[in-house]
Amino acid sequence: MQSWFETTEAIGAGARGDEPRESCGIFGVFNVPDAAAVIHRGLFALQHRGQEGAGIVVSDGEHIRSIKGVGLLNEVIAAHRGVKLPGAIGIGHVRYSTTGSSKPQNVQPLVVECADGLWAVAHNGNLTNARGLRLSYQEAGAIFQTSTDSEILVHLLADPMFRTRPRRVERALAEMKGSFSYLLLTPKQVMAARDPLGFRPLSIGRLGDGYVFASETCALDQTGAEHIRDVLPGELVVVDAQGIRSSTFCEPVQGGLGQCIFELIYFARPDSTVFGQSVHEVRMKLGRRLAQEAAVPGDIVIPVPDSGMSAALGYSQASGIPLEYGYIRNHYVGRTFIMPDSVMRSGGVDMKLSVVPNVVRGKRVIVVDDSIVRGTTARRRVRGLRTAGAKEVHMRISCPPIRHPCFFGIDFPSRDELVAADRSPAEVAKFVEADSVGYLTIEGLLASISQPDTYCTGCFMGRYPCDTGSAHHKLALEASGRGKA
Ligand code: AMP
Repeated sequence: MQSWFETTEAIGAGARGDEPRESCGIFGVFNVPDAAAVIHRGLFALQHRGQEGAGIVVSDGEHIRSIKGVGLLNEVIAAHRGVKLPGAIGIGHVRYSTTGSSKPQNVQPLVVECADGLWAVAHNGNLTNARGLRLSYQEAGAIFQTSTDSEILVHLLADPMFRTRPRRVERALAEMKGSFSYLLLTPKQVMAARDPLGFRPLSIGRLGDGYVFASETCALDQTGAEHIRDVLPGELVVVDAQGIRSSTFCEPVQGGLGQCIFELIYFARPDSTVFGQSVHEVRMKLGRRLAQEAAVPGDIVIPVPDSGMSAALGYSQASGIPLEYGYIRNHYVGRTFIMPDSVMRSGGVDMKLSVVPNVVRGKRVIVVDDSIVRGTTARRRVRGLRTAGAKEVHMRISCPPIRHPCFFGIDFPSRDELVAADRSPAEVAKFVEADSVGYLTIEGLLASISQPDTYCTGCFMGRYPCDTGSAHHKLALEASGRGKA
């Protein structure tokens, strides 16, 4: 029987995210009753990975149905009056636009009809050769639905060069460069793949008689799935009625991997295990090391919630300086401010974090955060502490200065935007109006994680594990004038 596809696209209350977030979250299930509800729960645990759009696609074995929309997951679901998609197979996506703007048609999973049936794809990462591949398909007459790099894969899959030959999916995946964790869905299968350098995480879990795939293990825990292992770099895992099987589409590259160190520093949730390491434990270690490397006299250590929590705890334990809650986070601010641009970021901050005046008044405050990117948020926070009467404000950052752009999915695209690109820590301190700023050294960072040579440290060192290609700007596909959907 011919498969068919149903979708309704709803615009939620608006694209939003109370904090700069980047990259995306993906979640999929095979042979899990009420797949839609489980994907909803899984994606909800991954919402921190993207707040601009969300989508769920479910197959009942023959038919594929989806809901998608701009905004937070629950808004999208509310706009559809719940998620009623029958079936036990499905994939979902929460989106932050590292490529392509926040348009409804860019929301994933993308669903397409090829000559041999329906496919849905959900992508986390940034492809560095997307532009060239896209242009060559467009010149041959292909029409693109979106301005995201993620769509390239469906064109490769539909191309007779791949479609009619063995190992079609593996060969299509092998064409792509850059970072990708992909989930693919056909009416009867779910597939999961990770790029050969392993930039972005992707885990496999077991749930009852079925399988679950998730960007982070926190989503497995949330759905009651047991983490069995991660998808390996360069591996394609396929699950269908015949069971689960694996193949390699690209042999691991000589010289190691390119796992994103910033997943451990900031991006992943602390209750996840990412690249085989507990995110919380790594951040605690970073904080402890920071206390040794960048010690400063102070009366209290305060974390920037939520990103600086684990590192601040480590810093406090190692330094013996008491941890205090100097900032209180308003969890509802996210509902007013969003969009991944610096204006919105700086606009939202004062409302998001408020200072507890009695905690900081008259004190020498050591503020611990995971990173300084543009410095505008940090400055507002420092000002907030001074207004509340802090005597001194010392920022301690649990990673080295971010001096270089990321081409693989984290949103710091240009050196001009990075406050530390051409500034010393003392100059950064001046910029953010702190009494001092102290960073972790690259040696300290690498000493705090296991198998440090398997990580990409491009944002600190300016050396990347592979060609950075054409992905120089997140709107590159649109700026070419060819990518407008
Ligand atoms: P800022 O002072 O404006 O650079 O903002 C620093 C805050 O933004 C820190 O609390 C970081 O946790 C957070 N952050 C982390 N990654 C990013 C990013 N890619 N873009 C912007 N801000 C980020």
